[in-house]
Amino acid sequence: MVVVMTPDATDEDVQRVVDKVTAVGGEAFVSKGLTRTIIGLVGDIDSFHGLNLRTLPGVGDVQRISDPFKLVSRQHHPERSTVWVGAPGQQVPIGPDTFTFIAGPCAVESAQQTLEAVEMARAAGAVMMRGGAYKPRTSPYAFQGLGVKGLEILASVREATGMPVVTEVVDARDVAVVAEHADMLQIGTRNMANFGLLQAVGQAGKPVLLKRGMTATIEEWLMAAEYIAQRGNLDVVLCERGIRTFEPATRNTLDISAVPIVQSKSHLPVIVDPSHAAGVKDLVVPLSRAAIAVGADGVIVDVHPHPEEALCDGPQALLGADLRSLAQAVRQLPPTVGRVDAGTARR
Ligand code: PEP
Ligand code: MN
Repeated sequence: MVVVMTPDATDEDVQRVVDKVTAVGGEAFVSKGLTRTIIGLVGDIDSFHGLNLRTLPGVGDVQRISDPFKLVSRQHHPERSTVWVGAPGQQVPIGPDTFTFIAGPCAVESAQQTLEAVEMARAAGAVMMRGGAYKPRTSPYAFQGLGVKGLEILASVREATGMPVVTEVVDARDVAVVAEHADMLQIGTRNMANFGLLQAVGQAGKPVLLKRGMTATIEEWLMAAEYIAQRGNLDVVLCERGIRTFEPATRNTLDISAVPIVQSKSHLPVIVDPSHAAGVKDLVVPLSRAAIAVGADGVIVDVHPHPEEALCDGPQALLGADLRSLAQAVRQLPPTVGRVDAGTARR
């Protein structure tokens, strides 16, 4: 931490800061410049926070040097992590050496629709399936998901296909039942800052897919991951899914630069959801190509056998020729950036 004094700060003002810092066991290194004095602090940053140094006379600014997130930071864990998802024998990696293609319906609507969507996904090369049994809808009148029945459908489709399942949990009271049926728990954009829910999934014993809040900064997103890690779960995968901007041509603006930025700050894997970012199917393939090129560790994409009948997000669901061109991109591009298909690395 660095304390920057104002140009008119007195020697007493500087000494007051030094005394406060040393009183809590820290060390203070004073450096006098021509117009300003700065004081470098070494020690326990949390105890410095308690001093409210910014409120002292002569203090202009207090800046932190280290990341506010610890467990998920690369400062403490330089090697990038791989998160394994699924039961032994079906485990799929998400990490720096592989590219993980995840696909499935936005929502579980029926056993037939889910199985068809997942078979389409598998034929296109997906190695993990998605599908929401609990849907966080903007309108309380919209389809809210099948709940436990949806979880049972997902578990039976996993049985049929051998593909690990990621599904969203929207309420801390449902964490146990979702963890019982799924291989990975998804926290959606609307719940990224639901700290009680983050703590609950941190204790659920399953990997977590943490989507970026649509209005969250990268630092807020990594602090949300820290909540999960702090409860003992470091199997967290981050997902960039677009942020809210002034641009109405897409549902959200995919922040592609977030991928390398997050990878430089955190050891956690990061994947991209081009479907929820764009909201329209025509952008899903180009955005997936961009995600692969920028170094994402995977993509998660909506597919549906009959988008015109979908109960949720039909306009962004892929099928037919679009899904075939996504399959081609996911087959051809990852090797050009040094990655192998996660399916070949199952364990
Ligand atoms: C989803 O993946 O089904 C979903 C609702 O995504 P998001 O939280 O990113 O909107
Ligand atoms: Mn959706």
